[in-house]
Amino acid sequence: MYSTRAIKWQHLFFVFLVVLLGTALELYYNQKIRQAQLEEKLESLNVLTAKVIAQAKEDLLIRYGGITQHYLNEPYLVRLIEALDREALYKALVEDYALMQKTNPSLQIMHFVDTQNVTLLRMHQSQQFGDNLSELRPIMAHVNRTKEATHAFEAGKNGLTYRITLPLITPDGRHLGVLEFGVEPRYFAERIAAFSSVRSQLLIRSDTLGIHPEGAHPHLQVGAFSVIHPDAFFEGVVDRIDWSVGKQEIAYEGRSYLIDTELALNNYRGEEVAKLLLAQDVSDFVRQSAERFRLMNFTSITLSIALMIMLYLVFTSYTRKIDRSYKEIARLSRNSQRLSVENVKLSQKAHVDPLTHCHNRTHFNDYIEATIQSGRGAVIFFDIDHFKQINDHYGHDQGDRVLRSIADTVRDHLREEDYFARWGGEEFVIVMAHGTAVQAKRKAEELRKVIEARPVVDGIALTCSFGVAQIKKGDTVHTLIERVDALLYRAKNEGRNRVCI
Ligand code: GH3
Ligand code: MG
Ligand code: MG
Repeated sequence: MYSTRAIKWQHLFFVFLVVLLGTALELYYNQKIRQAQLEEKLESLNVLTAKVIAQAKEDLLIRYGGITQHYLNEPYLVRLIEALDREALYKALVEDYALMQKTNPSLQIMHFVDTQNVTLLRMHQSQQFGDNLSELRPIMAHVNRTKEATHAFEAGKNGLTYRITLPLITPDGRHLGVLEFGVEPRYFAERIAAFSSVRSQLLIRSDTLGIHPEGAHPHLQVGAFSVIHPDAFFEGVVDRIDWSVGKQEIAYEGRSYLIDTELALNNYRGEEVAKLLLAQDVSDFVRQSAERFRLMNFTSITLSIALMIMLYLVFTSYTRKIDRSYKEIARLSRNSQRLSVENVKLSQKAHVDPLTHCHNRTHFNDYIEATIQSGRGAVIFFDIDHFKQINDHYGHDQGDRVLRSIADTVRDHLREEDYFARWGGEEFVIVMAHGTAVQAKRKAEELRKVIEARPVVDGIALTCSFGVAQIKKGDTVHTLIERVDALLYRAKNEGRNRVCI
């Protein structure tokens, strides 16, 4: 029986495989989308933070540039600077400086130097003056040289500070030196924190720390950078950060953070002297997106399962139909087999003699017609001698038995390819389609002797008379039978139990 069940499962296996692969691909892409969204968030964190810092720098420049301009428009102050009157200058500005620090607590430096980079006055350390900063503070030397306002990160005696370094040029063009305002880096961290939930930590290039007052102390090192005062958060996450990757997502104390390690803080030459580590708490976003993706994945998986069930049902219904068809086909084929067996039986009946199981006369006629066409072969015709007496003495049934036993004996002595038929009554015919008359005569003689020597059946001894003829070109069934029948007749006439050729 044709196994539709096996075929169904074979096909279902492949279909399921495709569905499962599709689902796996979808889950993979869902994950990719999630990653892309996080990356987008990281990118915008970096861009926005960079903008906040640029804006903060701009604000500082405007604020302290304006104040400096204001001082240069005060002839009294200009005179004090020119006269290098440090004490009077300090007194004149001390209230201003306190006010400035009040409005910007990150302001920690207000520093006058003369045109030779020698300290005139530190508002933040008024007792320290007269030191030459040409080497130590390149930005001051740069502004004295170029007379252009410059602002950048630079390490100094008070650590890494954002410097707004302004040339002192009076309205009538006299160059008096430089005024520098220094802002602590936390100013930027606070500005960043003000616009979103972003933490930041300052990392200073370790090779600039030689001139840092705290440079002598060991600091937490992160690659080429030192962290001077790491906060508790930074100390907690520092080991989880892959510093070779600019942007990443980390988990810390049950919360998720986007980490950006790429925000460079440059000196006035554009060299990176520090950087800000940014950490944005994205726990809510991560949770929401995880929920959304769980839902998406759940939907994908559910749809896939539903699809597989549907396919299973469709396949099952079709295979059932196919099974029914096969059963119907099998039934029809059994019927047709039975019919063909019956056909064979019928055709056998039509061609086989029921008593002796030899071919019958009808079959012989067809067979000999075809054999004669070849113009070769030989025919043996034989007739049982005095058969009538058997019937007369022992009855018709005994005669039938004798006929059957003679036929069996003859058949036993024929080859597969020899043709054997009952011509009618007690007369039989043998055709040796590839034999010659000589071979046929030899065979007839053999049969004659065998029959003659046969054990007597019920006391009856039997002999047969034989006619043997060669098939000739141009023979018809009629001429052939006539010829062989005449030879048989001669055998009878010459005393029976003999072969005539
Ligand atoms: P001969 O030697 O001249 O051939 O003598 P014979 O008696 O054999 O020939 P004859 O033609 O006189 O008789 C043939 C007999 O064979 C007549 C018939 O009753 C008998 N016979 C023919 N067909 C059958 C049959 O199917 N069964 C039986 N039992 N006898 C048959
Ligand atoms: Mg006879
Ligand atoms: Mg006869």
